[in-house]
Amino acid sequence: MTQIYNRVALIGLGLIASSMCHAMRRAGLAGEIVGYARSAETRAIAREINLCDHVYDSAVDAVKDADLVVLCVPVGAMGAVAAEIGPALKPGATVSDVGSVKRTVIDAVAPHIPQGVHFVPAHPLAGTEHSGPRSGFAELFDNRFCIIVPAEGSDRAAVGRVSDLWRGMGSNVDEMDPDHHDLVLAVTSHTPHLIAYTMVGVADDLSRVTDSEVIKYSAAGFRDFTRIAASDPTMWRDVFLNNKDATLEILGRFTEELFALQRAIRQGDGDHLFDYFTHTRAIRRSIVEAGQDTDAPNFGRGPAKPK
Ligand code: NAP
Repeated sequence: MTQIYNRVALIGLGLIASSMCHAMRRAGLAGEIVGYARSAETRAIAREINLCDHVYDSAVDAVKDADLVVLCVPVGAMGAVAAEIGPALKPGATVSDVGSVKRTVIDAVAPHIPQGVHFVPAHPLAGTEHSGPRSGFAELFDNRFCIIVPAEGSDRAAVGRVSDLWRGMGSNVDEMDPDHHDLVLAVTSHTPHLIAYTMVGVADDLSRVTDSEVIKYSAAGFRDFTRIAASDPTMWRDVFLNNKDATLEILGRFTEELFALQRAIRQGDGDHLFDYFTHTRAIRRSIVEAGQDTDAPNFGRGPAKPK
C-alpha cells in the first residue's frame, strides 16, 4: 500500500483514533501521524506507548500542517473542536470525522470549515466496548464497512483519498447520505445498544434475582447484552441525543413488535413465535454469509476461563 497523506492529525486519542494509528502504520498510509487529546493524562499515555509520531498539547498546533485532520471525539464535542481548529487548517487540507451519527455532526462542523478546505465525513462500523488510547488495535477495521457521507458538491478527489485511506486500513467502503445513514444505524446499532442497556438495567432492578445470581448464571444472551452495555457512557449519551428522530422511530416499531410477541406468549400462539424466530434466524444467516460475523458456535469464543 502506498502513502496517501503526508501528515495526518487525529483529534481525540481513544479507541477509534488509536486503532487508526495502528492500521495506518501497518499499511504505511501516512508519512507522519500526529495527535491531540484534551486531557494531559491521555496525552501522557499516548506518548508513553508511542501511539503516534508526535502528541501536541493543543489541537491548533496539531492540525497546522496536516493534510488530513480526523475528528475522533464524541459526537456532541465535534462542533466545538471544529470551531477551535477551523482557523488553523491548511488550505487544500481535508477534514474528516468518525462520529457514529452524521446529520448533526455535519451541521455542527461544516460552518467551521474554511473555504478551500474539504470536509469528508465518515463512520467506521467497527468498535469494541473498550475506550482510550491503549484500547486500539490495527485489525479493528478489517473487513468492516466504513460509510463515507460526502456533502453535496464535495470534491471527488478528496472523497476518493479518504475512501482509499479506509480501504488501506482494511475496510470496505460505501457512500450514503446523512439521513439514510442515521436511520440505518438506528436499526443496526443505536437501538440495539439501548435495548442492551435496558435489559442489563432490568436484571439489576429485579429484586427477586440477586445481583450475584445474575453474574454467576449469566447465559450467552445476557452476557452479550452486558458487553454491549459496558460501552462508553459519554459516546452513547451523545449518540442518542444526536440521532433522536431515527432512534425514536425504530424504538416505536420495536415496541409494537415486542407487544405482538408478548400477546403471542400470553395467548399460547406458538405459530406466531415459530414463524417470527424462523425469519430472524434467516437474517443471522445472511450476516454470516456476508462475512460480517463468524458461524462458530458462541461467536467463536472458547470455553469460559476457570476462576
Ligand atoms: P474514546 O475511546 O472514549 O475516546 C474519545 C476521545 O475523545 C478521547 O481522547 C477524549 O479525550 C476525547 N474527548 C471526549 N470528550 C471530549 C470533549 N468534550 N472535547 C474534546 N475531546 C473530548 O472514544 P471512541 O470510541 O474512540 O469514539 C470516538 C468517536 O468515534 C465518537 O464520535 C464515536 O461516536 C465514534 N465511533 C465509536 C465507535 C465505538 O464502538 N467505540 C465506533 C465507531 C465510531 P480524553 O481521553 O482526554 O478525555
